[in-house]
Amino acid sequence: MKYFLKRLPSFPTQAAVVNGEPVKSIVKWGNFSALRIIFTNMNNKNILLPLLATLIAGWTEKGTAQPLPATQSQPPVMPAAKTQVTLTVVNGVAGYQDTPLEPDGKWHVHDPARPQSRIVTSGPFSQNATPPSDAIVLFDGKDLAQWRDKRTGEAAPWPIADGVATSAKDDIVTTNEFGDLQLHLEFREPTPPSGTGQGRGNSGVYLMGRYEIQILDGYDNKTYPDGATAAVYGQHPALVNACRPPGDWQTYDIIFNVPHFDANGNLLTPGYVTVFHNGVVAQNHQAIRNDPPWHSSGGYAPHGATGPLALQFHKNSVSYRNIWVRPVAVDNEP
Ligand code: MG
Repeated sequence: MKYFLKRLPSFPTQAAVVNGEPVKSIVKWGNFSALRIIFTNMNNKNILLPLLATLIAGWTEKGTAQPLPATQSQPPVMPAAKTQVTLTVVNGVAGYQDTPLEPDGKWHVHDPARPQSRIVTSGPFSQNATPPSDAIVLFDGKDLAQWRDKRTGEAAPWPIADGVATSAKDDIVTTNEFGDLQLHLEFREPTPPSGTGQGRGNSGVYLMGRYEIQILDGYDNKTYPDGATAAVYGQHPALVNACRPPGDWQTYDIIFNVPHFDANGNLLTPGYVTVFHNGVVAQNHQAIRNDPPWHSSGGYAPHGATGPLALQFHKNSVSYRNIWVRPVAVDNEP
């Protein structure tokens, strides 16, 4: 059985064992924390929860009874993603409100009522930025030899013309894997625009092949904020909407730190991402909460220290150029 406690700014992190029950993990994400306890003695639940309730105002209980994994080496049981959700329109924005609550307890995943990001007019910033000498060039306009079709494993099926690759047919993934990194890419939304909301110029860049930084034509196009341009998809809306008009080139400069897990697959530190969208900070060292299936607040699935980058084909034609990556260290230690 899992219990999540939210808004615990002063939770005693030394409480590693309470009444004989080990606290499996205490995770801080931004301005709230979560505590996960796996009860091995269900009698302790009746003691521990009232005790915590008296210690901590505002705690809430989420989750349902789940069997303990047979071995600690197994990944934790994830809540199943809902397969049926109802499209809801709030103030002209389509989204969902019968999806799970985000851990902040305020908004549902893909909630159309969540405030839209403030619009900032941005400049060209790092357009045509020369790759630094130690960068790995992933696309220089000539070919997609560094990529393959995510579904088939064969050559990347995106057409290239005039030094530009355009999304088509399938997602593509890099043949190499990366951990902590700096990433530069440039994208261009189709003009004239067509479609609305998530249907307008949808693509995305997946860090480690799984955490999506949304790419969307968000210029004069509202959608649920946790799926808007430069959002950590399904989790964190962008701090600002710095979209340039469709047809203009736009840049992402991303710094990403991978999440870390212990030997049992428990999360030690979340992934962190900083995103400059056209030179404007859209994600500020934001903690990635999980690895969400669509319509679920999900949970982290343990994974390795590196993963490929991926670009999404979402049935829209989004163009790319000048993609390069630099593996980076977190500290300048010898
Ligand atoms: Mg997308």
